[in-house]
Amino acid sequence: MKTITVLGATGSIGQNTLDVIARHPHDFRVFAISGHANLPLLVTSAVACSARYIVISNESSYAALKDLMSEANCHSEILVGAKALEQVSSAPEVDTVMSAIVGAAGLLPTLAAVKAGKRVLLANKESLVMSGELFMNAVREHKAELLPIDSEHNAIFQCLPANFEYAELQRSGISKILLTGSGGPFRTKDLDTFESITPDQACAHPNWTMGRKISVDSASMMNKGLEFIEAKWLFGLKESDIEVVIHPQSTIHSMVQYVDGSVIAQLGNPDMRTPIAYGLSFPERIESGVEPLDFASLADFSFTKPEKQRYPNLYLAIDACKQGQSSTTVLNAANEVAVQAFLDAKISFLDIARINQETLQQLEYIELDSIAQVIEHDSLARRIANTILGKLL
Ligand code: NDP
Ligand code: MG
Repeated sequence: MKTITVLGATGSIGQNTLDVIARHPHDFRVFAISGHANLPLLVTSAVACSARYIVISNESSYAALKDLMSEANCHSEILVGAKALEQVSSAPEVDTVMSAIVGAAGLLPTLAAVKAGKRVLLANKESLVMSGELFMNAVREHKAELLPIDSEHNAIFQCLPANFEYAELQRSGISKILLTGSGGPFRTKDLDTFESITPDQACAHPNWTMGRKISVDSASMMNKGLEFIEAKWLFGLKESDIEVVIHPQSTIHSMVQYVDGSVIAQLGNPDMRTPIAYGLSFPERIESGVEPLDFASLADFSFTKPEKQRYPNLYLAIDACKQGQSSTTVLNAANEVAVQAFLDAKISFLDIARINQETLQQLEYIELDSIAQVIEHDSLARRIANTILGKLL
């Protein structure tokens, strides 16, 4: 019986995680779940999974949460604030932590789980984008078991040789990592019409159902850019080892190419419960509720290169990755500010890349030697991005 904390339980990944856990009541028990604004879902989830603790971000939600809990006959204990997230991630009772808070808010609780040597199921890619080297050093130092949940990285993880030593690509006979992406809802849209894209159009992903922030990132392919950075740190790669390929059907979730010409791919229906189940049960396999692929109905399998003009955010991210840690921290922060402004209908879809590029230009590259410096630099980048945003309003 494994004991799990689910950070970001009210989100898309969080709910899928609870769904997989509920299918295996004799294998997993839930220690704590966290949420932010969606208190009703937090309470129904806590009742359904019998969570011992519920963690919320703000004291101001406490009274409303208490009322909802007494209506629902929910007996979980309430904890409040960022420190409480770290507490439930590092508690001695916990074996596994699902890191599924969106954005920079996920970094510190994920690091707390790493420092406590837990099995960490990493959905929050922002942790690695913001602090890749420091984060991976902490994983090694504290002997945490880091398993990727992002479907592409989970696919790569499944396609690597069993004895794969990170940062030893050549010795493992690997020539390249192929990161696939669907190209999002605007893959074939006329570029002249991009200025009028609405948030709902950007969030209507053709294949995956996800939270709104990552859906916008998928439409701009910033998500693939963040995943490029994530892959570099996770698997110890050089930028030249990674190639991004558009595969609109989202059936192949990524591939590993070997020096002998073999390419090993992981396939499946686009449903996050597959990588979540693999992370929960690794090295075993458990049932996830995902329908098996019906090969007879897979009419098309196509691959193209992402165009620079259509996906400027992808190329900004690859360039930032080549520059190093402070650039990816800046890009992540600017993009969070820009995407939120786009979702609030304050700026156009094209303004996201404008804000990201200008923020990167305005901040000089510096070495970031500690998590405190990463967080300080993230705040600085947000201030600059907000100033640039202010001029666009
Ligand atoms: P959602 O927006 O659906 O969920 C985000 C979760 O984080 C919710 O539980 C939300 O609470 C909580 N949250 C939001 N802001 C804060 C905050 N400031 N402090 C604490 N908690 C907060 O996102 P997803 O589930 O789609 O994504 C989660 C992470 O997983 C992201 O990093 C994303 O990049 C990654 N990911 C997601 C995939 C997917 O298919 N969805 C695929 C691969 C990676 P509430 O809703 O209660 O406000
Ligand atoms: Mg992904």
